[in-house]
Amino acid sequence: MLQNIRVVLVNTSHPGNIGGAARAMKNMGLSRLVLVQPKVFPSDEAAARASGADDVLASTQVVDSLEEALTGCTLVMGTSARERSIPWPLIDPRECGAKAVAHAAGGEEIALVFGREHAGLTNDELQRCHFHVHIASNPDFSSLNLAAAVQVLSYEVRMAWLAAQQAPSAVEALEVGSPPSDDLATMDEMERFYEHLEKTLVDIGFLDPAKPKHLMPRLRRLYGRSSVNRSEMSILRGILTETQKVVRGDAHKRKD
Ligand code: SAH
Repeated sequence: MLQNIRVVLVNTSHPGNIGGAARAMKNMGLSRLVLVQPKVFPSDEAAARASGADDVLASTQVVDSLEEALTGCTLVMGTSARERSIPWPLIDPRECGAKAVAHAAGGEEIALVFGREHAGLTNDELQRCHFHVHIASNPDFSSLNLAAAVQVLSYEVRMAWLAAQQAPSAVEALEVGSPPSDDLATMDEMERFYEHLEKTLVDIGFLDPAKPKHLMPRLRRLYGRSSVNRSEMSILRGILTETQKVVRGDAHKRKD
């Protein structure tokens, strides 16, 4: 079940943090590490800091974009030390662990996303997440070391996982009302939908690319909390396709 939970590090500068994250993960039983454009990898420093978690480093996947890192995921939780401009559903590490385990138990793929040492995650990256996770900390000194942040979330995943081993029925109680998990649209399908939606909204004149006014982030937040399944996704895509036909003037004329 823990194999369904991947840790994604975006643009990490210090290889030591990659090793530290790998070690933190292995201590807690996690093994899937994905790096989005790391500055240096592989490296001796990462191997030294991993001190024994070489298997996690050896199977680490390196990709070019966050989108690629999230392929196949239906639940994405992104970490942030600061509040961002558009408020997003915000949870603490304990809720994050519970959600990760509940969804992983249903066979879903989950991602925990961590940002750059100096700048965190961009707004655009955070808007690709269903939830933001904040680790409670001193407001005057809120930013943890990257590997330490990975440790906190991995520990909470382990605690939720242990609780689930002891009382499997408690896992179902954690997440009530979700649709069958194999049915959910994945992040890559959602991303294609958002592209289609944005294009259609521009075509019908609802979205002015010169003055987007946070429309797409707001729509991402709306659909992101809706647990859209595959058949609902087909309906939404179908509506967009027909709307575009109307805009182009080649809509099927109704005979009435
Ligand atoms: N200076 C950056 C913080 C980077 S810390 C900023 O102001 O955003 C590097 C990464 O560690 C963050 O992107 C996040 O993934 C994680 N992190 C550090 N402190 C955190 C906190 N208090 N809550 C959640 N994540 C945190």
